[in-house]
Amino acid sequence: MSSKTSTPKPALASAALATGRAAATFAARLTFDNVERSYGETDALAGFNLDVAPGEVVCLLGPSGSGKTTLLRVASGIEKPTGGRVLINDSEVAGPNCFVPPEDRGIGLMFQEFALFPHLTILHNVAFGLKGLPREEARREALLALQRVGLKDLADKYPHILSGGQQQRVALARALVPRPAVMLMDEPFSGLDVQLREAIQEETLGILRETRATSLIVTHHPEEAMRIGDRIAVMREGKLVQAGSAEDLYHNPADLFIARLFSEINEITYTVSNGHIECPIGELPAPDLGDGVYAIVCIRERGITLARNGSGLAGRVLDVKFLGDVARLEIGVDGFDRPLKVRVREMDGWARGAEVSVVIDPARVLVFPRESKESEDSVVS
Ligand code: ADP
Ligand code: MG
Repeated sequence: MSSKTSTPKPALASAALATGRAAATFAARLTFDNVERSYGETDALAGFNLDVAPGEVVCLLGPSGSGKTTLLRVASGIEKPTGGRVLINDSEVAGPNCFVPPEDRGIGLMFQEFALFPHLTILHNVAFGLKGLPREEARREALLALQRVGLKDLADKYPHILSGGQQQRVALARALVPRPAVMLMDEPFSGLDVQLREAIQEETLGILRETRATSLIVTHHPEEAMRIGDRIAVMREGKLVQAGSAEDLYHNPADLFIARLFSEINEITYTVSNGHIECPIGELPAPDLGDGVYAIVCIRERGITLARNGSGLAGRVLDVKFLGDVARLEIGVDGFDRPLKVRVREMDGWARGAEVSVVIDPARVLVFPRESKESEDSVVS
């Protein structure tokens, strides 16, 4: 069965691409339905599910090797899935019976190495994706795209004169000029220095919003994901672990791994007894964990309040590290085997040796089962 004749066009923008005409972007839904991709013994994608709403910006977060790049390659059509389906606007573009080639998917791609062609002017680099358009029209579209990223004045220059940030913006203009309905970006900001990164993120996000492109952006910086994503999708070992707003993931992380991504935490192992954990903060509920199971109690470094005196747990400042706006303290706290790490405002002026009253809100403490591979030391029962 020919996929081209049996499948409706995934998005209007793809029809525009096929004829080389730039049409307005129509936001598209992007769906991964149990997508698998194996390379020999390696399951780069092991049943990945995610639905990205039209116009939504989703940041994809996960450790190195978790399958992020493979997912984008499969979505774009550079790679075929070995199982499951990819859908654009609810019609299959890759699956057991169907394969729509990359150029017909209405998808824009921007990879980490966004190499520009050194022998082409900046304008021609951007117009590269508009080969099907009449020359004048392509030129006009490319100039508009360059204007949008603030580089119109450099249109006739060559890429070597550009800074890293400017090159990134040219690559962005090039990816956006065909007005893709779906934009896939693989660590697009990783090559930029810290000062530039935030400004370019903001700019990029502004442009994605303006073009209403449905966007999937890979990053391995949780903070970046929180700043730019409408939602964050966390993947590990080829699977989606959790997807939600930054607030969801911060307040209700699905597991310890996700909790660690979004805040600095103290992890203390206890044994569960009768559906709860006894610890110096009080009794913490652990209803889903059986008797005798090891559980990790997570206390956020910023979730601990200190006072010079009060009715909290008695403690003593053992160490103070100056980290700019914040100070990171180590506090010996009555009832805890090990010092707790605490982040406070630097201006609070805690000094080593100070006696403190330590307040930890039990409602803000997280409890997870301990993964078998976690270290076995310091269990408190
Ligand atoms: P990420 O982008 O999250 O770092 P990748 O998608 O690049 O992860 O890779 C996921 C897994 O698939 C890794 O174990 C990687 O070694 C493997 N892999 C990716 N591409 C190939 C390939 N072309 N051939 C063999 N193995 C691959
Ligand atoms: Mg990658």
